[in-house]
Amino acid sequence: MIRLRTVSKTYGSGPSAVTALRNVDLHVPKGQIHGVIGLSGAGKSTLIRCVNLLERPTQGIVSVDGQELTGLSGTALNQARHRIGMIFQHFNLLTNRTVYRNVALPLELMGMARGEIRERVDPLLKMVGLDDKTDQYPAQLSGGQKQRVAIARALASRPKVLLCDEATSALDPQTTGSILALLRDINRQLGLTILLITHEMEVVKTICHRVSLISDGALVEEADVGDFFTAP
Ligand code: ADP
Ligand code: ADP
Repeated sequence: MIRLRTVSKTYGSGPSAVTALRNVDLHVPKGQIHGVIGLSGAGKSTLIRCVNLLERPTQGIVSVDGQELTGLSGTALNQARHRIGMIFQHFNLLTNRTVYRNVALPLELMGMARGEIRERVDPLLKMVGLDDKTDQYPAQLSGGQKQRVAIARALASRPKVLLCDEATSALDPQTTGSILALLRDINRQLGLTILLITHEMEVVKTICHRVSLISDGALVEEADVGDFFTAP
């Protein structure tokens, strides 16, 4: 479902250039939850942002759902991005929009009709447990509730893939547990493929099927989670 082939990314050029990814190969099959773990500065954020081309790789190929994204730009890239949802550490909600209208936003941008938007948004808000908060603003919500809004928004375009960029790093352990449980439900119920980055072992242990270790821009190890955490 997600495929990276010899992906490299260098920021800047000349003496100040920083190479954040080095020849990364990664394959995440449909329905899998794959975690990438590594220290701060290892290249996790660059890696996940290369999957939906928020960052453009300097070299290599990125494909999602059988389509090569690295060859696309403009409208074709925007269309392809509808199949990729993303959530962030700091939620990235729009403060002047209600819960309902945050989730509706991507559908409004796609030009969907109001009635159809409503048919999508209502069940999503129910699924994330916020159907009683539709008219609240983000400032009125807890961190966990904000991330639930962000998850509903990420799912609005019915993506095949969900990218999670340190999605629980700003949350307390209990809230982290409930968000991870929600992500696992979504993976099971919708068959959604999930790629997440984290610096927390516990996150990987809790929901990932498979894990890669990133160090200085390179994937240095990959294993099933059971094997990764079992002493040899
Ligand atoms: P992580 O998410 O693991 O902390 P990042 O992908 O954010 O790692 O960063 C990897 C390397 O790339 C770091 O050395 C970082 O300073 C550098 N870097 C990240 N983003 C940029 C940028 N926009 N411009 C220049 N250097 C960057
Ligand atoms: P604007 O200020 O852009 O006019 P509104 O608050 O009037 O925004 O909302 C725009 C549309 O979004 C509404 O006409 C309605 O279709 C939809 N909408 C907003 N909140 C809800 C909600 N809680 N439930 C259902 N639809 C809503």
